[in-house]
Amino acid sequence: MRYLPLHFDFRDRHVLVVGGGEIAKRKIDLLLSAGAVIQVVAPEISDAIVELLGDAGHSILQAEYKPSLLTGKVLVIAATSDGAVNQAVSTDATLRSIPVNVVDAPALCTVTFPAIIDRDPLIVSVGSAGGSPVLTRSIRQLIEATIPERISALATYLQSRRDRLKTTFTNIEMRRRATEAFLESPGSERAMAGDSDAADPYLFADQGSVVEGEVYLVGAGPGDPDLLTLRALQLMQKANIVLYDNLVPPKVLDRVRRDASKEFVGKRSGYKSTGQEDINDLLVRLAKEGNRVLRLKGGDPFIFGRGGEEIKALIHHKIPFQVVPGITAASGCAAYAGIPLTHRDLSQSVRFVTGHPKDGQVDLAWKELTHVHETIVFYMGLAGLGSICQQLIAHGRAAETPIAIVSKGTTPEQQVLKGTLETMPGLVARAQIQSPTLIIVGEVVNFADHA
Ligand code: SAH
Repeated sequence: MRYLPLHFDFRDRHVLVVGGGEIAKRKIDLLLSAGAVIQVVAPEISDAIVELLGDAGHSILQAEYKPSLLTGKVLVIAATSDGAVNQAVSTDATLRSIPVNVVDAPALCTVTFPAIIDRDPLIVSVGSAGGSPVLTRSIRQLIEATIPERISALATYLQSRRDRLKTTFTNIEMRRRATEAFLESPGSERAMAGDSDAADPYLFADQGSVVEGEVYLVGAGPGDPDLLTLRALQLMQKANIVLYDNLVPPKVLDRVRRDASKEFVGKRSGYKSTGQEDINDLLVRLAKEGNRVLRLKGGDPFIFGRGGEEIKALIHHKIPFQVVPGITAASGCAAYAGIPLTHRDLSQSVRFVTGHPKDGQVDLAWKELTHVHETIVFYMGLAGLGSICQQLIAHGRAAETPIAIVSKGTTPEQQVLKGTLETMPGLVARAQIQSPTLIIVGEVVNFADHA
Protein backbone atom coordinates (compact mmCIF):
# COMPACT_ATOMS: atom_id res chain seq x y z
CA MET A 1 0.00 0.00 0.00
CA ARG A 2 1.72 3.17 -1.14
CA TYR A 3 -1.00 5.65 -0.12
CA LEU A 4 -2.27 5.46 3.44
CA PRO A 5 -5.66 7.10 3.84
CA LEU A 6 -5.79 9.51 6.77
CA HIS A 7 -8.80 11.62 7.70
CA PHE A 8 -7.43 15.09 8.18
CA ASP A 9 -9.01 17.70 10.44
CA PHE A 10 -8.84 20.86 8.30
CA ARG A 11 -10.79 23.15 10.58
CA ASP A 12 -9.03 26.54 10.74
CA ARG A 13 -5.95 25.16 8.99
CA HIS A 14 -4.43 27.03 6.07
CA VAL A 15 -4.37 25.66 2.54
CA LEU A 16 -2.84 27.20 -0.56
CA VAL A 17 -4.64 26.71 -3.85
CA VAL A 18 -2.67 27.67 -6.95
CA GLY A 19 -5.06 28.25 -9.85
CA GLY A 20 -8.25 30.23 -10.29
CA GLY A 21 -10.44 28.20 -12.63
CA GLU A 22 -13.19 25.61 -12.42
CA ILE A 23 -10.97 22.77 -11.19
CA ALA A 24 -9.51 24.92 -8.46
CA LYS A 25 -13.02 25.89 -7.47
CA ARG A 26 -14.06 22.24 -7.04
CA LYS A 27 -11.15 21.63 -4.67
CA ILE A 28 -11.94 24.84 -2.80
CA ASP A 29 -15.57 23.71 -2.40
CA LEU A 30 -14.39 20.49 -0.83
CA LEU A 31 -11.87 22.15 1.47
CA LEU A 32 -14.42 24.71 2.60
CA SER A 33 -16.82 21.94 3.54
CA ALA A 34 -14.09 20.65 5.86
CA GLY A 35 -13.60 24.11 7.40
CA ALA A 36 -10.20 24.99 5.90
CA VAL A 37 -8.92 28.55 5.51
CA ILE A 38 -8.04 29.10 1.86
CA GLN A 39 -5.49 31.26 0.16
CA VAL A 40 -5.90 31.21 -3.60
CA VAL A 41 -3.27 32.56 -5.94
CA ALA A 42 -3.42 32.94 -9.74
CA PRO A 43 -3.03 35.70 -12.32
CA GLU A 44 -6.73 35.24 -13.09
CA ILE A 45 -9.34 34.18 -10.57
CA SER A 46 -12.89 33.35 -11.54
CA ASP A 47 -15.82 35.33 -10.19
CA ALA A 48 -17.24 32.09 -8.78
CA ILE A 49 -14.17 31.64 -6.57
CA VAL A 50 -14.20 35.28 -5.49
CA GLU A 51 -17.83 34.90 -4.51
CA LEU A 52 -17.18 31.63 -2.71
CA LEU A 53 -14.33 32.94 -0.60
CA GLY A 54 -16.04 36.25 0.07
CA ASP A 55 -14.74 37.92 3.20
CA ALA A 56 -14.74 35.04 5.67
CA GLY A 57 -11.04 35.13 6.53
CA HIS A 58 -9.85 33.61 3.25
CA SER A 59 -7.47 35.42 0.95
CA ILE A 60 -7.47 35.97 -2.78
CA LEU A 61 -4.21 36.90 -4.41
CA GLN A 62 -4.26 37.92 -8.04
CA ALA A 63 -0.60 37.26 -8.81
CA GLU A 64 1.94 34.69 -9.96
CA TYR A 65 2.71 31.82 -7.58
CA LYS A 66 5.83 32.21 -5.46
CA PRO A 67 7.36 29.72 -2.96
CA SER A 68 7.05 32.08 0.02
CA LEU A 69 3.27 31.53 -0.11
CA LEU A 70 3.86 28.03 1.21
CA THR A 71 4.74 29.26 4.67
CA GLY A 72 2.22 28.19 7.28
CA LYS A 73 0.24 25.93 4.94
CA VAL A 74 -0.69 22.33 5.80
CA LEU A 75 -1.58 21.46 2.22
CA VAL A 76 -0.97 22.85 -1.25
CA ILE A 77 -3.03 22.22 -4.33
CA ALA A 78 -1.88 23.08 -7.81
CA ALA A 79 -4.73 23.29 -10.28
CA THR A 80 -3.27 25.31 -13.12
CA SER A 81 -3.00 24.51 -16.81
CA ASP A 82 0.70 25.49 -16.73
CA GLY A 83 2.88 22.39 -16.39
CA ALA A 84 5.93 24.40 -15.25
CA VAL A 85 3.99 26.05 -12.41
CA ASN A 86 2.52 22.72 -11.34
CA GLN A 87 6.02 21.21 -11.32
CA ALA A 88 7.44 24.12 -9.31
CA VAL A 89 4.67 23.92 -6.72
CA SER A 90 5.26 20.20 -6.33
CA THR A 91 9.02 20.57 -5.95
CA ASP A 92 8.81 23.51 -3.52
CA ALA A 93 6.21 21.82 -1.33
CA THR A 94 8.06 18.51 -1.24
CA LEU A 95 11.28 20.30 -0.21
CA ARG A 96 9.39 21.84 2.72
CA SER A 97 7.62 18.56 3.61
CA ILE A 98 4.23 20.08 2.88
CA PRO A 99 1.75 17.63 1.38
CA VAL A 100 0.97 18.56 -2.21
CA ASN A 101 -1.70 17.62 -4.70
CA VAL A 102 -1.36 18.47 -8.37
CA VAL A 103 -4.61 17.93 -10.18
CA ASP A 104 -4.39 15.22 -12.82
CA ALA A 105 -0.68 14.59 -12.29
CA PRO A 106 -0.26 11.70 -9.83
CA ALA A 107 3.53 11.71 -10.28
CA LEU A 108 3.70 15.23 -8.81
CA CYS A 109 1.47 14.43 -5.81
CA THR A 110 2.31 13.33 -2.32
CA VAL A 111 -1.41 13.19 -1.48
CA THR A 112 -4.39 12.38 -3.68
CA PHE A 113 -8.06 13.18 -3.25
CA PRO A 114 -10.24 10.12 -2.75
CA ALA A 115 -13.82 9.70 -3.92
CA ILE A 116 -15.90 10.41 -0.84
CA ILE A 117 -19.15 9.18 0.61
CA ASP A 118 -20.16 11.87 3.05
CA ARG A 119 -22.49 10.73 5.82
CA ASP A 120 -20.87 13.05 8.30
CA PRO A 121 -19.53 12.09 10.83
CA LEU A 122 -19.16 8.86 8.90
CA ILE A 123 -16.88 9.29 5.90
CA VAL A 124 -15.90 6.60 3.43
CA SER A 125 -13.04 7.35 1.07
CA VAL A 126 -12.02 5.40 -2.00
CA GLY A 127 -8.69 5.91 -3.73
CA SER A 128 -6.71 4.49 -6.61
CA ALA A 129 -3.41 6.30 -6.03
CA GLY A 130 -4.62 8.89 -8.51
CA GLY A 131 -4.59 6.15 -11.14
CA SER A 132 -8.24 6.08 -12.15
CA PRO A 133 -10.70 8.61 -10.78
CA VAL A 134 -13.43 7.01 -12.93
CA LEU A 135 -12.90 3.64 -11.28
CA THR A 136 -12.90 5.13 -7.78
CA ARG A 137 -16.11 6.99 -8.56
CA SER A 138 -17.83 3.84 -9.76
CA ILE A 139 -16.70 1.95 -6.65
CA ARG A 140 -18.01 4.81 -4.55
CA GLN A 141 -21.40 4.48 -6.26
CA LEU A 142 -21.51 0.78 -5.44
CA ILE A 143 -20.76 1.42 -1.78
CA GLU A 144 -22.99 4.47 -1.60
CA ALA A 145 -26.09 2.45 -2.45
CA THR A 146 -25.51 0.17 0.51
CA ILE A 147 -25.02 2.88 3.14
CA PRO A 148 -28.24 4.41 4.40
CA GLU A 149 -28.43 8.18 4.54
CA ARG A 150 -29.44 7.80 8.16
CA ILE A 151 -26.15 6.18 9.09
CA SER A 152 -25.19 9.77 9.97
CA ALA A 153 -27.61 9.71 12.85
CA LEU A 154 -26.24 6.35 13.99
CA ALA A 155 -22.64 7.59 13.88
CA THR A 156 -23.59 10.76 15.76
CA TYR A 157 -25.41 8.68 18.35
CA LEU A 158 -22.43 6.38 18.91
CA GLN A 159 -20.13 9.38 19.11
CA SER A 160 -22.34 10.90 21.80
CA ARG A 161 -22.30 7.64 23.79
CA ARG A 162 -18.55 7.05 23.59
CA ASP A 163 -17.76 8.25 27.09
CA ARG A 164 -20.67 6.44 28.67
CA LEU A 165 -19.67 3.27 26.85
CA LYS A 166 -16.17 3.60 28.30
CA THR A 167 -17.45 3.87 31.86
CA THR A 168 -20.07 1.11 31.41
CA PHE A 169 -17.71 -1.34 29.73
CA THR A 170 -14.25 -0.71 31.11
CA ASN A 171 -12.78 -3.62 29.20
CA ILE A 172 -12.12 -2.69 25.57
CA GLU A 173 -13.07 -6.13 24.32
CA MET A 174 -16.43 -5.97 26.11
CA ARG A 175 -16.99 -2.54 24.64
CA ARG A 176 -16.31 -3.80 21.16
CA ARG A 177 -18.67 -6.73 21.60
CA ALA A 178 -21.41 -4.57 23.07
CA THR A 179 -21.16 -2.15 20.15
CA GLU A 180 -21.15 -4.95 17.60
CA ALA A 181 -24.21 -6.55 19.18
CA PHE A 182 -25.88 -3.15 19.22
CA LEU A 183 -25.30 -2.65 15.51
CA GLU A 184 -27.05 -5.95 14.84
CA SER A 185 -29.91 -5.12 17.19
CA PRO A 186 -33.11 -3.12 16.62
CA GLY A 187 -31.34 -0.39 18.63
CA SER A 188 -29.30 0.60 15.57
CA GLU A 189 -32.50 1.23 13.61
CA ARG A 190 -33.83 3.29 16.53
CA ALA A 191 -30.65 5.37 16.53
CA MET A 192 -30.92 5.87 12.76
CA ALA A 193 -34.45 7.10 13.29
CA GLY A 194 -33.03 9.67 15.74
CA ASP A 195 -34.57 8.10 18.85
CA SER A 196 -31.58 7.90 21.19
CA ASP A 197 -33.66 7.07 24.26
CA ALA A 198 -35.10 4.02 22.54
CA ALA A 199 -31.64 3.00 21.34
CA ASP A 200 -29.91 3.21 24.76
CA PRO A 201 -31.34 0.03 26.31
CA TYR A 202 -29.90 -1.97 23.42
CA LEU A 203 -26.46 -0.42 23.80
CA PHE A 204 -26.15 -0.45 27.56
CA ALA A 205 -28.25 -3.43 28.60
CA ASP A 206 -26.59 -6.71 29.23
CA GLN A 207 -26.73 -7.85 25.61
CA GLY A 208 -27.66 -11.36 26.61
CA SER A 209 -30.98 -10.13 27.94
CA VAL A 210 -31.95 -8.25 24.79
CA VAL A 211 -33.07 -11.03 22.50
CA GLU A 212 -35.89 -9.20 20.82
CA GLY A 213 -35.70 -9.04 17.06
CA GLU A 214 -37.55 -6.83 14.62
CA VAL A 215 -39.58 -6.95 11.44
CA TYR A 216 -39.06 -5.08 8.19
CA LEU A 217 -42.18 -4.91 6.09
CA VAL A 218 -40.72 -4.15 2.69
CA GLY A 219 -42.22 -3.49 -0.71
CA ALA A 220 -40.30 -5.40 -3.37
CA GLY A 221 -41.77 -3.48 -6.31
CA PRO A 222 -43.63 -4.99 -9.25
CA GLY A 223 -41.01 -7.46 -10.50
CA ASP A 224 -38.01 -5.78 -12.08
CA PRO A 225 -35.24 -6.10 -9.45
CA ASP A 226 -33.87 -2.73 -10.52
CA LEU A 227 -37.04 -1.16 -9.16
CA LEU A 228 -36.17 -2.15 -5.59
CA THR A 229 -35.56 0.87 -3.39
CA LEU A 230 -32.14 1.43 -1.84
CA ARG A 231 -33.74 0.98 1.56
CA ALA A 232 -35.20 -2.37 0.50
CA LEU A 233 -31.75 -3.53 -0.64
CA GLN A 234 -30.16 -2.40 2.60
CA LEU A 235 -32.66 -4.34 4.70
CA MET A 236 -32.42 -7.35 2.38
CA GLN A 237 -28.76 -7.45 3.36
CA LYS A 238 -29.56 -7.09 7.04
CA ALA A 239 -32.32 -9.63 7.63
CA ASN A 240 -31.54 -13.22 8.60
CA ILE A 241 -35.00 -14.59 7.75
CA VAL A 242 -37.12 -13.69 4.75
CA LEU A 243 -40.82 -14.44 4.35
CA TYR A 244 -41.94 -13.78 0.79
CA ASP A 245 -44.99 -14.37 -1.31
CA ASN A 246 -45.67 -15.30 -4.92
CA LEU A 247 -45.42 -11.80 -6.32
CA VAL A 248 -41.74 -11.70 -5.41
CA PRO A 249 -39.74 -13.13 -8.33
CA PRO A 250 -36.53 -15.18 -7.94
CA LYS A 251 -34.45 -12.35 -9.41
CA VAL A 252 -35.50 -10.13 -6.52
CA LEU A 253 -34.87 -12.87 -3.96
CA ASP A 254 -31.37 -13.23 -5.39
CA ARG A 255 -30.58 -9.86 -3.85
CA VAL A 256 -31.24 -11.12 -0.32
CA ARG A 257 -28.21 -11.88 1.87
CA ARG A 258 -26.89 -15.30 0.84
CA ASP A 259 -27.02 -16.91 4.27
CA ALA A 260 -30.54 -15.71 5.13
CA SER A 261 -33.20 -18.39 5.31
CA LYS A 262 -36.03 -17.83 2.85
CA GLU A 263 -39.52 -19.06 3.42
CA PHE A 264 -42.36 -18.94 0.91
CA VAL A 265 -45.66 -17.95 2.53
CA GLY A 266 -47.74 -17.09 -0.51
CA LYS A 267 -50.49 -18.76 -2.42
CA ARG A 268 -49.43 -20.93 -5.32
CA SER A 269 -51.43 -23.64 -6.98
CA GLY A 270 -50.39 -27.08 -5.77
CA TYR A 271 -49.01 -25.65 -2.53
CA LYS A 272 -50.75 -25.30 0.77
CA SER A 273 -51.04 -21.60 1.31
CA THR A 274 -50.24 -19.92 4.60
CA GLY A 275 -53.22 -18.05 6.02
CA GLN A 276 -52.87 -14.39 6.98
CA GLU A 277 -53.34 -15.24 10.67
CA ASP A 278 -50.53 -17.78 10.44
CA ILE A 279 -48.24 -15.24 8.79
CA ASN A 280 -48.99 -12.69 11.50
CA ASP A 281 -48.22 -15.28 14.19
CA LEU A 282 -45.06 -16.38 12.43
CA LEU A 283 -43.77 -12.79 12.21
CA VAL A 284 -44.36 -12.28 15.91
CA ARG A 285 -42.80 -15.59 16.91
CA LEU A 286 -39.69 -15.17 14.75
CA ALA A 287 -39.13 -11.62 15.99
CA LYS A 288 -39.54 -12.71 19.61
CA GLU A 289 -36.88 -15.34 19.02
CA GLY A 290 -34.50 -12.48 18.20
CA ASN A 291 -34.51 -12.63 14.40
CA ARG A 292 -34.38 -9.79 11.95
CA VAL A 293 -37.31 -10.76 9.82
CA LEU A 294 -37.85 -9.37 6.36
CA ARG A 295 -41.42 -9.59 5.20
CA LEU A 296 -41.03 -9.07 1.48
CA LYS A 297 -44.17 -8.23 -0.45
CA GLY A 298 -44.84 -7.50 -4.09
CA GLY A 299 -45.34 -3.85 -4.98
CA ASP A 300 -46.10 -1.67 -1.98
CA PRO A 301 -47.01 -3.32 1.33
CA PHE A 302 -49.79 -0.84 2.02
CA ILE A 303 -51.53 -1.18 -1.35
CA PHE A 304 -53.64 -4.32 -1.40
CA GLY A 305 -50.78 -5.93 0.48
CA ARG A 306 -52.41 -6.61 3.84
CA GLY A 307 -49.52 -4.71 5.41
CA GLY A 308 -51.98 -3.07 7.78
CA GLU A 309 -53.00 -6.42 9.26
CA GLU A 310 -49.41 -7.49 9.76
CA ILE A 311 -48.33 -4.34 11.55
CA LYS A 312 -51.42 -4.53 13.74
CA ALA A 313 -50.18 -7.83 15.10
CA LEU A 314 -46.69 -6.39 15.57
CA ILE A 315 -47.99 -3.32 17.37
CA HIS A 316 -50.09 -5.56 19.60
CA HIS A 317 -47.03 -7.59 20.58
CA LYS A 318 -44.79 -4.49 20.84
CA ILE A 319 -42.39 -5.80 18.20
CA PRO A 320 -40.20 -3.09 16.66
CA PHE A 321 -40.84 -2.79 12.94
CA GLN A 322 -40.50 -0.52 9.97
CA VAL A 323 -42.39 -0.28 6.72
CA VAL A 324 -40.56 0.45 3.49
CA PRO A 325 -42.69 1.53 0.55
CA GLY A 326 -42.27 -0.13 -2.81
CA ILE A 327 -43.24 0.79 -6.33
CA THR A 328 -46.78 -0.41 -6.63
CA ALA A 329 -47.93 -2.43 -9.66
CA ALA A 330 -49.95 0.50 -11.00
CA SER A 331 -46.90 2.78 -11.16
CA GLY A 332 -44.57 0.08 -12.47
CA CYS A 333 -46.91 -1.36 -15.11
CA ALA A 334 -48.09 2.04 -16.31
CA ALA A 335 -44.56 3.34 -16.68
CA TYR A 336 -43.28 0.27 -18.51
CA ALA A 337 -46.36 0.16 -20.77
CA GLY A 338 -46.06 3.87 -21.62
CA ILE A 339 -49.38 4.81 -20.02
CA PRO A 340 -49.33 7.99 -17.91
CA LEU A 341 -51.79 7.39 -15.08
CA THR A 342 -52.79 11.05 -15.06
CA HIS A 343 -52.58 13.62 -17.80
CA ARG A 344 -53.50 17.29 -17.81
CA ASP A 345 -56.06 16.88 -20.59
CA LEU A 346 -57.09 13.25 -20.39
CA SER A 347 -57.31 12.33 -16.74
CA GLN A 348 -57.16 14.44 -13.63
CA SER A 349 -57.38 11.65 -11.10
CA VAL A 350 -56.51 8.01 -10.68
CA ARG A 351 -58.14 5.41 -8.50
CA PHE A 352 -56.72 2.07 -7.37
CA VAL A 353 -59.44 -0.50 -6.75
CA THR A 354 -59.54 -4.21 -6.18
CA GLY A 355 -61.27 -6.11 -8.94
CA HIS A 356 -61.35 -9.35 -7.03
CA PRO A 357 -64.67 -11.07 -7.82
CA LYS A 358 -66.88 -12.86 -5.32
CA ASP A 359 -69.10 -15.52 -6.90
CA GLY A 360 -68.17 -14.21 -10.37
CA GLN A 361 -69.30 -10.66 -9.60
CA VAL A 362 -67.18 -7.66 -8.72
CA ASP A 363 -68.91 -5.63 -6.08
CA LEU A 364 -67.88 -1.96 -6.23
CA ALA A 365 -69.41 1.50 -5.95
CA TRP A 366 -69.77 1.58 -9.76
CA LYS A 367 -71.50 4.95 -9.87
CA GLU A 368 -68.29 6.55 -8.58
CA LEU A 369 -66.21 5.01 -11.33
CA THR A 370 -67.82 6.55 -14.35
CA HIS A 371 -66.03 9.87 -14.59
CA VAL A 372 -64.64 10.21 -18.10
CA HIS A 373 -61.52 12.04 -16.89
CA GLU A 374 -60.55 9.53 -14.24
CA THR A 375 -58.17 6.60 -14.70
CA ILE A 376 -59.14 3.44 -12.87
CA VAL A 377 -56.62 0.75 -12.06
CA PHE A 378 -57.97 -2.65 -11.08
CA TYR A 379 -55.71 -4.93 -9.07
CA MET A 380 -56.60 -8.64 -9.01
CA GLY A 381 -59.17 -8.05 -11.71
CA LEU A 382 -58.60 -10.64 -14.43
CA ALA A 383 -61.14 -13.18 -13.20
CA GLY A 384 -63.71 -10.42 -12.84
CA LEU A 385 -62.91 -8.73 -16.16
CA GLY A 386 -66.26 -9.52 -17.79
CA SER A 387 -68.14 -8.17 -14.82
CA ILE A 388 -65.93 -5.05 -14.63
CA CYS A 389 -66.44 -4.09 -18.29
CA GLN A 390 -70.15 -4.81 -18.16
CA GLN A 391 -70.75 -2.79 -14.96
CA LEU A 392 -68.72 0.20 -16.12
CA ILE A 393 -70.78 0.37 -19.35
CA ALA A 394 -74.04 -0.22 -17.48
CA HIS A 395 -73.24 2.71 -15.17
CA GLY A 396 -72.47 5.10 -17.97
CA ARG A 397 -68.87 4.78 -19.10
CA ALA A 398 -68.70 4.74 -22.90
CA ALA A 399 -68.38 1.28 -24.43
CA GLU A 400 -65.41 2.53 -26.46
CA THR A 401 -63.46 3.64 -23.36
CA PRO A 402 -59.88 2.35 -23.79
CA ILE A 403 -58.70 -0.40 -21.49
CA ALA A 404 -55.32 -2.12 -21.16
CA ILE A 405 -54.31 -5.34 -19.51
CA VAL A 406 -50.69 -5.50 -18.42
CA SER A 407 -49.46 -8.98 -17.69
CA LYS A 408 -46.24 -9.63 -15.73
CA GLY A 409 -45.56 -5.93 -15.82
CA THR A 410 -41.95 -4.64 -15.64
CA THR A 411 -40.53 -8.14 -16.23
CA PRO A 412 -38.97 -9.34 -19.50
CA GLU A 413 -42.24 -11.26 -20.12
CA GLN A 414 -44.43 -8.19 -19.86
CA GLN A 415 -47.38 -8.17 -22.28
CA VAL A 416 -49.82 -5.36 -22.90
CA LEU A 417 -53.22 -6.00 -24.43
CA LYS A 418 -55.31 -3.00 -25.45
CA GLY A 419 -58.96 -2.77 -26.40
CA THR A 420 -62.19 -1.13 -25.30
CA LEU A 421 -64.62 -1.95 -22.53
CA GLU A 422 -66.72 -3.65 -25.19
CA THR A 423 -64.02 -5.67 -26.95
CA MET A 424 -61.69 -6.62 -24.10
CA PRO A 425 -63.55 -9.65 -22.67
CA GLY A 426 -63.50 -11.25 -26.12
CA LEU A 427 -59.83 -10.36 -26.70
CA VAL A 428 -58.83 -11.88 -23.37
CA ALA A 429 -60.75 -15.07 -24.08
CA ARG A 430 -58.67 -15.56 -27.22
CA ALA A 431 -55.31 -14.52 -25.73
CA GLN A 432 -53.09 -16.48 -23.38
CA ILE A 433 -52.71 -14.08 -20.48
CA GLN A 434 -50.43 -14.87 -17.59
CA SER A 435 -50.87 -13.59 -14.09
CA PRO A 436 -50.27 -11.28 -12.40
CA THR A 437 -52.26 -8.84 -14.47
CA LEU A 438 -53.28 -5.27 -13.94
CA ILE A 439 -56.20 -3.57 -15.65
CA ILE A 440 -56.05 0.12 -16.56
CA VAL A 441 -59.19 1.90 -17.77
CA GLY A 442 -59.32 5.42 -19.20
CA GLU A 443 -58.35 7.71 -22.06
CA VAL A 444 -54.69 7.66 -20.95
CA VAL A 445 -54.44 4.08 -22.25
CA ASN A 446 -54.29 5.41 -25.80
CA PHE A 447 -51.98 8.27 -24.88
CA ALA A 448 -49.17 6.77 -26.94
CA ASP A 449 -51.44 6.72 -30.01
CA HIS A 450 -52.33 10.42 -29.53
CA ALA A 451 -48.86 11.59 -28.59
N1 SAH B 1 -49.07 -4.83 -3.02
C1 SAH B 1 -49.11 -5.05 -4.44
C2 SAH B 1 -50.44 -5.53 -4.91
C3 SAH B 1 -50.85 -6.86 -4.35
S1 SAH B 1 -52.40 -7.40 -4.99
C4 SAH B 1 -48.70 -3.77 -5.17
O1 SAH B 1 -48.62 -2.70 -4.54
O2 SAH B 1 -48.46 -3.84 -6.37
C5 SAH B 1 -51.88 -8.42 -6.31
C6 SAH B 1 -52.22 -7.79 -7.63
O3 SAH B 1 -51.26 -6.81 -7.98
C7 SAH B 1 -52.22 -8.73 -8.80
O4 SAH B 1 -53.41 -9.48 -8.88
C8 SAH B 1 -52.11 -7.78 -9.94
O5 SAH B 1 -53.32 -7.15 -10.22
C9 SAH B 1 -51.19 -6.73 -9.39
N2 SAH B 1 -49.78 -6.93 -9.77
C10 SAH B 1 -48.73 -7.06 -8.95
N3 SAH B 1 -47.60 -7.18 -9.65
C11 SAH B 1 -47.93 -7.10 -10.95
C12 SAH B 1 -47.19 -7.15 -12.16
N4 SAH B 1 -45.87 -7.30 -12.18
N5 SAH B 1 -47.88 -7.04 -13.33
C13 SAH B 1 -49.20 -6.88 -13.34
N6 SAH B 1 -49.94 -6.84 -12.22
C14 SAH B 1 -49.33 -6.94 -11.04
